[in-house]
Amino acid sequence: MTAQINATVAGVPRIGPKRELKKALETYWKDASTGRNLATVATQLVNQQADLIAGAGLDSVPTIGRSFYDSMLDTSALLGALPERVADVADHDNDGLPAYVDRLFAAARGTAELPASAMTKWFDTNYHYIVPELAADTEFRLDDAALLTDLADQVTRGTAARPVLIGPLTYLALARTTDGSDALVHLEEIFEAYARLLPRIAERGAAWVQFDEPYLVTDVDKDETRKADLLARTRAGYEKLVAAAGDTALLVQTYFGDGDLAVKTLSGTGIAAFGVDLVTGRTDERQADDTNIADEALLPSWTGEEQLLAGVVDGRNIWRTDLARALQTLKALAARGPVGVSTSSSLLHVPYSLAQETSLDDDAELRSWLAFGAEKIAEVALLSRALRGEETAEDDAAVAEAHEAVASRRSSERTRNAALRQRTGAITEADRHRNSFDQRREVQAKELNLPPLPTTTIGSFPQTTEIRQARAKLRKGDITEAQYHDAMVAEIKDVIGRQEALGLDVLVHGEPERNDMVQYFSEQLEGYHSTDLAWVQSYGSRCVRPPILFGDVTRPAAMTVEWFKIAQSFTDKFVKGMLTGPVTMLAWSFVRDDQPLGTTADQVALALRDEIDDLVDAGAKIIQVDEPAIRELLPLRRAQQPAYLKWAVGAFRLATSGVADDIQIHTHMCYSEFNELIGTVGDLDADVTSIEAARNGMQVLHALRDSGFELGVGPGVWDIHSPRVPEQSEVDTLLSDALDAVPASQLWVNPDCGLKTRGWDETTASIKVLVAAAQKARASVNA
Ligand code: GLN
Ligand code: ZN
Repeated sequence: MTAQINATVAGVPRIGPKRELKKALETYWKDASTGRNLATVATQLVNQQADLIAGAGLDSVPTIGRSFYDSMLDTSALLGALPERVADVADHDNDGLPAYVDRLFAAARGTAELPASAMTKWFDTNYHYIVPELAADTEFRLDDAALLTDLADQVTRGTAARPVLIGPLTYLALARTTDGSDALVHLEEIFEAYARLLPRIAERGAAWVQFDEPYLVTDVDKDETRKADLLARTRAGYEKLVAAAGDTALLVQTYFGDGDLAVKTLSGTGIAAFGVDLVTGRTDERQADDTNIADEALLPSWTGEEQLLAGVVDGRNIWRTDLARALQTLKALAARGPVGVSTSSSLLHVPYSLAQETSLDDDAELRSWLAFGAEKIAEVALLSRALRGEETAEDDAAVAEAHEAVASRRSSERTRNAALRQRTGAITEADRHRNSFDQRREVQAKELNLPPLPTTTIGSFPQTTEIRQARAKLRKGDITEAQYHDAMVAEIKDVIGRQEALGLDVLVHGEPERNDMVQYFSEQLEGYHSTDLAWVQSYGSRCVRPPILFGDVTRPAAMTVEWFKIAQSFTDKFVKGMLTGPVTMLAWSFVRDDQPLGTTADQVALALRDEIDDLVDAGAKIIQVDEPAIRELLPLRRAQQPAYLKWAVGAFRLATSGVADDIQIHTHMCYSEFNELIGTVGDLDADVTSIEAARNGMQVLHALRDSGFELGVGPGVWDIHSPRVPEQSEVDTLLSDALDAVPASQLWVNPDCGLKTRGWDETTASIKVLVAAAQKARASVNA
C-alpha cells in the first residue's frame, strides 16, 4: 500500500512574490544580466515556495522545477518537441540554465528572424500558454536533464518533491499541428516518453509524480465514438505509466471543473490518487442554485479505491475559505475512502500573500474576507489537521473565525446595497431591448451622415513613455493632479489632431488616462478594490493585478464624461465614448462567489448604463462598449454554455439598451476565435462590432457570411500585434475580402485592436494605408 498525501496544493506560482522572475527574465533578454543570475533567481523562488509549503506542514510539494516561461512550453522542451525552426537558435548564455533555454525563449517570444509560437488562454482563465506546434512526423526525444537536476536539488534539500507533468491527453488536445494532421495520433508516443522518464524520476527519490489532465473536465470530444476511443487510449496509457513507475505513486490532477470523468476513466489502473476541484461549479446552497451539488453526491465514480485529494480551497479566486463548510465536505468524502486536502487548482492564479498587500492596511474588513496563496496554504494545513482529528485549540478558533468572516462578507452593507438591489429587482426584459436595428439604422444614418465604409480605430493610441511617466509621477506625488490632468489634455488634443490629419471618420480620445481597461473603471466603482502588489502571471514575464470585485457595484460619479467632453471640444467629427463591458469587467477581476455571476454582471451593467446616459447628455452620439473577454468565460462544457451566454448577452444589453435610436452603440472583440460565437455577437445587438480578423487570416469572414450577419461590422484589416506597417496591397486585399463577405452598407474599416502597445511611426503609417484602402474601396462601392 502506497503512502498517502495528507495535505498539498495542486500547483505553485513561479513569478515571485515581488515579480523577481520577471525582472531576471527581462534583464536577461535585454542582455543586461547573465544566465547565472536568472538561474539563481529562479532557484531561489522554487526553494522559497518549497519552504513555505513544507513549513506550513503540508507533506507533499508540487514542483515543476524552475520554469522560465510556461509549463506547456516546458513540456514541449522536455519532450524534445520545440518547433523545428528554433533548432538552430544559438545558445546565448545558458550558464546554470537548461541547455534548451534560448530555444525555448525563441519559441515563446520569436526572434528578429523567427516568428513566435501561438499563445492562447489556459482553459477559462486569463493565464496564457504557448501552444505546442506539432506535425504528423514530429518525433519526441526526451530531454529531461533540466527536470532531473531540479528534482535532485529539491530532494537534496529535503523537499518532499512531487514533479508535476502535463498529462499526455491534455498536452496533445491543446496542441496545434502545422500540417493539418490530428495531434492526438501521438498519444501513445507521449505515454511511452513519460514511461521512460518515470523510472529516472523514481531513481532521484520522488515518492509521487503528478500528471495534470484538466482536459478531462471538458466534453473531450463532440463525437461520442471519438471520445470513447480517446478515453480508452488514455486509460491504456496510464496503465503503462503505473507499470513503469515502480514504487513511485501517480497522482492524476484535474481542475476548473468536475473531476468525475477523470476518476471514471482511470480508476482501477493503479493510479494512487486523484486530485479534484471541489470549488468550481459548486455554489453556496443559500443561492438555491440548481448547479449546486450536495457533498454526498460529489464524484459518483469514486469508489474509495484510490486516494482523493479534495480541492476544497479555491486555487483561482481570493476568498477566504469557510473552513467549517469545507470540513463538512471533507468528512462526507472521508466516509467513502481515503482523503487528503488540497486546492482546487494550482496557486498560479492567485497572488502570493496578503502579508505584502499594503492596499488593505486601512480596510481590515475586506482583508478579513480574503486569502491569497500563502493564506490558502495555511488553510489546507489546518483542514488536514482537523480532518485527522489533530486540530489544536487555535485551529478550532480559526475555523470559527473563518466561518464568521464568510458570514460577515455575506451580510455586510458593502456587499448588499439595498437601493441597488431594489433597482436590479425591478429590471424587466424591456430594459434589455432596443427598437429594431432597421429602425435604428435609418435614424443613425441621418443623424451621423457618415460616408460608406467609415473608418475608425478601437480606442487606444500609443501609450508613450511620457504618458506612463506622468502616471508614475502622479502616483509618487512628483506632480500634482492638475499637472497630470493638463498633460493628458495635451495628449488628447494631439491625438485628435493626428486623427483629423489622417482623415479618419470617427475619432477616439486615445485612452491615455487609462492604466488598464478594467482597473481604470474598477478604481471608480464602489464594490471594487484595486490592489498594489497582488500580481499574477498572465504570460511569460507579463503580470496583471486583477481588481477584487467584492461587493455590490455602484457608480458614485461619472467616470469618463469629462475626458469625452475634452476630446469632443477639439473636433467637429464624432468622438466615441469608450467603456469596458460588464463581462470583461468580471473576466479580468477576482469576482465575488456569493451570488451568481449573472447577478454581478447586471450590477456592473447598470453602472455602465448610467455612464452611457451621462455620455449621451454630454453630446456623445457613438459609444463603444468593449467586450474582448466574452469568449473567455464560456463554460468548458457545452451543456453549460447556453446559460452563460444568456446572462452575458443580457448584461451587455442591459448596459446598452437605455439609449434612443439615434445613439450608435459599438462593441469590440478580440483575442479569441469568434467563429462559433458569431450568433452571440449578433445577439448583443450592437449597431457596430469591430472584431479582430487580420491576425487570424480573416477567418471570421466565413462565419459572418454564413450566418448572414445583419448588423454593422468592422473585421480588422490591420494586424496590430506586429510593428510591421502593412503594404497598401495587403490592406486592399483584406478589405475586398471583407466586401465579398459583408454588404458594403454594413462594413466599417478599422484595425484589429487598440494601439496602446504600438509606436507612433508605425501607427501613423499604417492608418494612412487603412484610410487610403477605405477611400479606394468607397469609390468602387459608389460606382
Ligand atoms: N478600447 C480598448 C483599446 O483600444 C480595447 C482593448 C482590447 O480590446 N483589449 O485599447
Ligand atoms: Zn481588442
